This record gives sequence, structure tokens and C-alpha cells, in this order.
Amino acid sequence: MQEMTGVVPCTSTPYSEFKDNVDKVVTIKGALHNIREMSDFAFIIVRTARELIQCVYSPEFSDYRLSDDVVEQAAAKVTGKVVKSETRDGSERYELQIHNIEILSKPAAVPPVVISKKQVNCDLSVNLDFRPVTLRNPKERAIFKIQEGIQRGFREFLQGQGFTEIHTPKINFAGAEGGTNVFKLDYFGKTVYLAQSPQLYKQALVPVYERVFEIAPVFRAEHHDTSRHLNEYISMDFEMGYIDSFTDIMNMETGALKYIMQLLKTEYAPEVELLKAEIPEITTIPCIKFKDAKEMCVKKLKNITDMKDFEPEEEAFLGKWAKQQYNSDFLFVTHYLSKKRPFYTMDDPDDPEVTLSFDLLFRGIEITSGGQRIHDYNMQVEKMKKLGMNPEEFETYLMLHKYGAPPHGGLGLGLERLTMHLLGFKNVRLAAMFPRDINRVTP
Ligand code: ATP
Ligand code: MG
Repeated sequence: MQEMTGVVPCTSTPYSEFKDNVDKVVTIKGALHNIREMSDFAFIIVRTARELIQCVYSPEFSDYRLSDDVVEQAAAKVTGKVVKSETRDGSERYELQIHNIEILSKPAAVPPVVISKKQVNCDLSVNLDFRPVTLRNPKERAIFKIQEGIQRGFREFLQGQGFTEIHTPKINFAGAEGGTNVFKLDYFGKTVYLAQSPQLYKQALVPVYERVFEIAPVFRAEHHDTSRHLNEYISMDFEMGYIDSFTDIMNMETGALKYIMQLLKTEYAPEVELLKAEIPEITTIPCIKFKDAKEMCVKKLKNITDMKDFEPEEEAFLGKWAKQQYNSDFLFVTHYLSKKRPFYTMDDPDDPEVTLSFDLLFRGIEITSGGQRIHDYNMQVEKMKKLGMNPEEFETYLMLHKYGAPPHGGLGLGLERLTMHLLGFKNVRLAAMFPRDINRVTP
């Protein structure tokens, strides 16, 4: 009888172990990423999960002869001897002198886009059309390895701070925050909405677990085609109870970002290097009140007409200001106008025109919105009424307040936005594996 042991040994030697295996025969498994055939020898680069390994074929090394099946993108098992190779700069490099190539699977066609060069040189739309193929390019895949690092850092940091990971429903009877950008869908004859954020559910879990977080997709029916909006994006959210002030949330985010950046520098160094990512140094993050930031923008920039919110150029200006003034890539802007924040936002008791809320700007672009939420039942019902909302429609949500909730707050951080600005991209689509925008739902 066959029995499962629970062990799947790794049968491919990673490049990192080559230095300990010089002159020994090892096996690697991967895709034949790039093949350069010369008259009597060939360079074959093998692409493993995270590395590119140079292999050299020559009849000198074994009796094995290259067959017609040895083509780029074939999945193969390559056996050979590890040797130290010459480098111009004198650094240590190793390669494999091929003894044998076993083709495990041969592609049926040549890729529609060249992916074996340093980067894919094609239009964004072509890159996205052929995503399952273009993502194989080392630079493309590095973007999402970095994105994995960001999520992992967020998760590890929060778990270390006593947060519980949750998953809230994405199909909801009421659109979380209302407005025009909700997707409606037919649900067995009823109209339901795709979640714009986990807001109302993560708040409900504060009296249960005190501190919760979620990393999950959210949906926004953005009708416009911009370089910073997707229709489905990954939101990294947390919500925490028993806060003394909304600044506790900003402090927690500062800690999370520090942890994430440190993790990227250490465990994601190959990808950071490949993409030439400038990982920000964070010591502390400066804060400025919305009113003061606005005054500064009005003084320094022309034609500012919207006094209730920032235009992208104002955010860009504030980003530069934070860099010059505090040498910080990040800036918290606090106390946004009450009129401009959602119904669950706590107004400042000292000045009810403004809220105990904040945005975080990274290199001059918003990546986070957060703040303290209303926890008192009567206060929440009153605010809903004042905003023309019907509290009866929010019966489930209001159970939170009705049956007792501690002072709490939280935030939502857009994963693709953060990735985009970390890597210096002009378009958020480059930071989405399979982006969904107004014109794109495939692949
Ligand atoms: P913006 O003003 O940039 O449209 P928002 O204020 O509507 O964003 P929030 O509801 O505050 O967005 O969402 C929290 C975070 O989620 C934002 O700071 C951003 O990082 C990210 N985000 C929001 N909308 C999108 C979107 N359509 N595509 C990608 N990320 C988004
Ligand atoms: Mg926002």
C-alpha cells in the first residue's frame, strides 16, 4: 500500500548551494529560459523559481548531444558539474557544465513576446494581454515577489502585535460606503454589491478579537481610466480596539512599514537589486494637519480651487516638501474635513468640522486612508441621519455599536499603490498581476 510521508524532498539544487558543490554533479529543474548556440557549444540559462542559472553545453563535457527538443521554455531536468566561472569584475560566479538534459515538457509554440531578455520590451497592453507568459520574465516576476514581501511583512508585523487575520464577505447586501463606485450584481434575483472595502465587517470584529487585519481583494467601479485606479485591488486593512487616540493607528502603520522595508532589504534583496528599487529609510514619519497643508499648497501652487480635498499636484507638492523638510518619503496628513470623510469617521470633539482621520502620502501619492471610528450608538445614528442615510438599512452594522464597542480605528492600504511607488512605476497596472480596469477583464 502506498503511504504518504508528508515529505517532498527538493530535487533541484538551488544556485545558492553551488558554492558548496564545486566539481560535484548536481541536478536542477527549471525552464530553458535562454539558449545561445555557438558552433560547438551553447549557453543555456535555466530559470528556476527565483533564480537564473547559467549552464554550458559542450561535447567536451559528456557524450550527451543537444536534441531538437531543447528549445526555450521547455521544462527540463539538467544534470551537470558545478564549476567556478570567470567574471570580468572578479566576483564569484558558478555555472553548470551540462552532462545531460531531460526534457520534461516541450512547449507547443514560441512565446508571442520575447521574455528571455533583461526585460519585456513591448507596450503595456501587449504585456498585459500575454500575462501568463510575460510574468515569466525575471523582472516582471520580481515585481510580484516584492509584492509578496510587502504582504508578508504586513502580516508578520501585525501577527506579532496580537492581530487576528480575518476574511470578510465580498458579496454584500448593502454597498459598504455607498456612492457611485459599487458593482451591482444579480444574486438569485436580488441585487447585491461587491465589497468596496471590508470596513463594516472588520469593525464588527473589534469587540470579538480587539485587533484584526485582512489582506484581500476589494472592488471599485471606477468609471474613469487613470494610471492609479484599478477596479479590483488588494486592500491591506487593519482595525484595532482600545485605542487612546487615532495616532495609535498611525504609529502602528509606521511600525508595519518599517518592518516591511526591512524585510524587503534582507529577504527580497535579489528582487530589490534586479528592479533597482529604492527602499525608503523610515525612522519616524512626520505629520501635518490638512488645514496647514492646504494653506501651504495655496501659497505655493497656482489655481487651487478645491479647498476640501487635495488635487494630485498638491499631494505631489506635499511629498516633495516632506522630503526636503524631514528627509521623509512618507507624510501623514491628518484632520481631514468631516464633509469629506465617510459616515463612520469620528469627528474631532475640539473642532467637529474636522475628523480624527488621516491619509498617508508616499512619495507624493495617497496610499492609505484611516482614522478613528465612531463607537457610540447614538452618535453613529445621529451622524447617519445628518448625512441623510437611513439607519434602518444599516441594522447589521449598527449591532456593533448597539451591543457595545470599544474606542477603535483602523486603515486601508492599497497594495498595488504601494508597490507602484516603491518601484517607481507610472502606471498601477504594472503592479497588478492580472489587472482589472475599465477596459480589461482578461487574462
Ligand atoms: P483615491 O482618492 O486615490 O481615489 P480613495 O480615497 O478613494 O483613493 P480609499 O477608499 O481611501 O481610496 O482607499 C484606501 C486606499 O486604497 C487608498 O489610499 C489607495 O491606496 C487604495 N485604493 C483606493 N482606490 C483604489 C483603486 N481604485 N485602485 C487601486 N488602489 C486603490
Ligand atoms: Mg482615501
